[in-house]
Amino acid sequence: MDLRYSSAAEKFRREIRRWLAGSVPEAWRRPCFWLDLDGTGQSLDLRRGWEKDRADNGFAGVDWPEEYGGRGGDHEIRAVHDEEMARARAPIGPFLGLTYLGTTLLGPTLLRYGTEDQKRRLLPAILSGETIWCQGFSEPESGSDLASLRATAHRDGDVLVVSGEKTWTSMARFADAMFALVRTDPEAERQRGLTFLLIDLALPGVTVRPIRQMSGSHEFGQEFLDEVRVPVAGNVVGAPGDGWAVAKYLLGVERNASPISQYFEFRHELDDVIAVARRTHKDGRSAIEQPAVRQRIARCRADLELLRVRGYDAMTRVGRGEDLGAHASVTKLLWSRTRLAIADLGADVLGVDGQLGADAGAGHLRWRHLHVRGQRIAGGTAQIQRTIIARELLELPR
Ligand SMILES: Cc1cc2nc3c(=O)[nH]c(=O)nc-3n(C[C@H](O)[C@H](O)[C@H](O)COP(=O)(O)OP(=O)(O)OC[C@H]3O[C@@H](n4cnc5c(N)ncnc54)[C@H](O)[C@@H]3O)c2cc1C
Repeated sequence: MDLRYSSAAEKFRREIRRWLAGSVPEAWRRPCFWLDLDGTGQSLDLRRGWEKDRADNGFAGVDWPEEYGGRGGDHEIRAVHDEEMARARAPIGPFLGLTYLGTTLLGPTLLRYGTEDQKRRLLPAILSGETIWCQGFSEPESGSDLASLRATAHRDGDVLVVSGEKTWTSMARFADAMFALVRTDPEAERQRGLTFLLIDLALPGVTVRPIRQMSGSHEFGQEFLDEVRVPVAGNVVGAPGDGWAVAKYLLGVERNASPISQYFEFRHELDDVIAVARRTHKDGRSAIEQPAVRQRIARCRADLELLRVRGYDAMTRVGRGEDLGAHASVTKLLWSRTRLAIADLGADVLGVDGQLGADAGAGHLRWRHLHVRGQRIAGGTAQIQRTIIARELLELPR
């Protein structure tokens, strides 16, 4: 097996690394930087400006076709891009990246299922951050059993009239538009009557309410849709009533996320824990000297390496044009478990005093410990992933 990148990908690495060195200020790389600004307009402005600059410099959508605003690179270029972004601690990912849901979920879905008009109209605006997207799948009574969702859309001439409620929506606070699953045929059986619909959140009848998480962050939200009139033309992705197939594809992309950038991102998080473990003392010894802590660090490192190898495997499969199917569920389990283990280790290193804020420089560990709990749930819970793996990969009896 040859794990080296092509020379074209390495050339691209030098180029993007140079750009990142000049565009991500040193202060942004400090673990508490974004946390200190959390929820402020300054955080939003900085990230919005940076994402626009990234697109203007040709480093957004690096593996999307050029005619839709991308760079036309292959899966290796994308992997190098993800690695370098994470290595530079650029404001990317599901929490900081304003264009994250558009670039990682909606974009690939439009490339597969969108019409030519949708691709030309929507993809460049995703990359530049002109349209910030959120994902409206979950409802108060429909999460794991997504096909039971109840938001309806009935046809009235040229529009679909949407009513219902969506919840647990990441980025709802900042989003301009939502890609949603709605029930267009109440007579059809469960997933058969669903449509994948693009909804402008500025339309009359939409109310967005923020939800504050236990970490204190409130980019999360809940949307109430009261007879929202969405033009059919250009806003239905895939065929009407065929939204389940489109959503299943998107969920596969979400579960796989980007294990290569996650590897670097979580390595930073583990390094942050190690740094605090070196300076935290208990019973006359630093935490880093304690065998139990060392053992857990080693386990996290081993799992991270596994994640990296899975990332290369996924990259190879995607490069061959294969669908990742249930393999994405294995990756989702692995990354969510590993990230949680790192955050739990951080909390244990801090101990009770640390949890109460005794170490002022360790706010990022406290925040992460609370914030990453949701990762086992987002994008499908750990139990649901295990069921998918049991059924589709292991072919266990029901
Ligand atoms: C941080 C975060 C971000 C999110 N972002 C979004 C977003 O942007 N857009 C969006 O649409 N949704 C989002 N969600 C919602 C997420 O997709 C749902 O929370 C998730 O699918 C679980 O659904 P639920 O909350 O309704 O829990 P439920 O489905 O009610 O599950 C409750 C518990 O029962 C278990 N369970 C349920 N069914 C089974 C079964 N058949 N077998 C075994 N166990 C089962 C579950 O594993 C879980 O432990 C987000 C959630 C979180 C935490």
